[in-house]
Amino acid sequence: MTDPFGISLSLQKIGIEAENLGSSTGLDWLDSGEKAIASFSPADGKSIAQVQSGNAETYEAIIAQAQIAFEKWRTVPAPQRGEIVREIGNALREVKADLGKLVSYEMGKSYQEGLGEVQEMIDICDFAVGLSRQLYGLTMHSERPGHRMYEQWHPLGIVGIISAFNFPVAVWSWNAALAWVCGDVCVWKPSEKAPLSALACQHIAGRIFAKHGMPEGICSVIVGDYQVGELLSQDPRVPLVSATGSTRMGKLVGKAVGERLGRSLLELGGNNAIIITENADLDIAIRGALFGAVGTAGQRCTTTRRLIVQENVYEEVKSRLASAYSKLVIGNPLDEKNHVGPLIDQDAVKGYLAAIEKVKAEGGKVVVDGGLLSGDGYESGCYVKPAIFEAENHFAIVQHETFAPILYLIKYKTLPEAIALQNGVPQGLSSAIMTTHMREAEAFLSAAGSDCGIANVNIGTSGAEIGGAFGGEKETGGGRESGSDAWKAYMRRQTNTINYSTSLPLAQGIKFDI
Ligand code: NAD
Repeated sequence: MTDPFGISLSLQKIGIEAENLGSSTGLDWLDSGEKAIASFSPADGKSIAQVQSGNAETYEAIIAQAQIAFEKWRTVPAPQRGEIVREIGNALREVKADLGKLVSYEMGKSYQEGLGEVQEMIDICDFAVGLSRQLYGLTMHSERPGHRMYEQWHPLGIVGIISAFNFPVAVWSWNAALAWVCGDVCVWKPSEKAPLSALACQHIAGRIFAKHGMPEGICSVIVGDYQVGELLSQDPRVPLVSATGSTRMGKLVGKAVGERLGRSLLELGGNNAIIITENADLDIAIRGALFGAVGTAGQRCTTTRRLIVQENVYEEVKSRLASAYSKLVIGNPLDEKNHVGPLIDQDAVKGYLAAIEKVKAEGGKVVVDGGLLSGDGYESGCYVKPAIFEAENHFAIVQHETFAPILYLIKYKTLPEAIALQNGVPQGLSSAIMTTHMREAEAFLSAAGSDCGIANVNIGTSGAEIGGAFGGEKETGGGRESGSDAWKAYMRRQTNTINYSTSLPLAQGIKFDI
């Protein structure tokens, strides 16, 4: 097999062999006897590896080991847990180029974005190390004399992590790095569309836990499709399920976890808009919209899907964007001259083509037409042209998240109208306003402004930093991961009241004397 981008060597450097791979609680693979899932690259359509799917028995073995591991891991002081996470971050630094390349090849995002994804993992490890000394609770003044009240945070137990294909490694690390310093153990069900990148991570982290003599099961991976995800969401031994993916999936997981009164942290689909006002710096606005709409071939949850443009600058924005789109180079994501890589698979291509038909049928006008690319370099059948349509916000297709590079242009007159359009979709993940006008920016950020979890000024909708809490409202699921105080989702809060007096006064002054 020709290997112009050196993928085999990268796999070797990460320390995995591209055969006999499967689910694991540490470094050894558990043989489930099930058939293998082939990991295909959308870049060239070639099979990278065969990865064995887990089943209900593998799942049981993994959960049993995770329960044992939790008994030990929760007693390790949090700063020491942080030291282990620090080493995982350092190990990721060493393999950044190789893991970035694997992510790019298996998922189809550009090599630069693959590197960026690994950098996010390193950043969240650093964040978690600091956090391991800051899992603060509050103290409160008791209303009763001789009493003290405070709260503390304890580990939850097993955290189930279900992840999507488009961030095949970073989303795991956002959850796992925090969960580990919080004293939890993790069972990860990665996307069946990018299993090899997950096994690479398992190997990197598993080696560090083993080096420190920690039991297997603190870090586990179970390969499989939605049925394995269902095992996690239905299992009362898993107090928290953090699930990233489509709104359709999130509704099912939320229901299953809710029925057993477990906790879910849902990070679901977006339908993100940028408002470009007549006071925008159009150089920044066009660049922000371009990267937001075509980066990762439109396969980010934060991809810019709608551009809501003030009528006085509408024509200029439209023609400048069309001109920028004409310069986009589409091709193999590992070749750094290309701006746009492939969609994940041919089902995604079908969804993209169907959306184009729908927007045209609903009355959308072509600004830059789409279509499937074929010929040299496009043999995988997953390369499509980024497209732009003039549309109305109420079109059914505009209300829906199509996970592909299709951008809808919508015209507005007044800012309140633009904000209502921005909020007028079922999803609530990311939003942005491009303006140099302070009043417009503040109105957009006010309580009557954007209803999204993320609201930016003069920055596109994608490309969040790990320091902030990440997530969205409405059908995006309400979860928050990563920075700020997102760690609280991975712990249970306990309120403690201590009586050091010689009597037993009751709260609210209640008398109960015999
Ligand atoms: P998907 O919903 O098809 O799959 C995501 C994961 O859920 C996979 O691991 C899949 O096996 C699992 N799954 C599917 N059905 C399940 C069920 N019934 N029970 C348990 N698990 C189940 O999503 P995808 O195509 O991999 O990813 C794209 C979607 O993810 C987009 O909607 C995107 O917006 C969203 N996403 C959201 C965020 C966020 O942070 N908000 C981040 C990345 C991706």
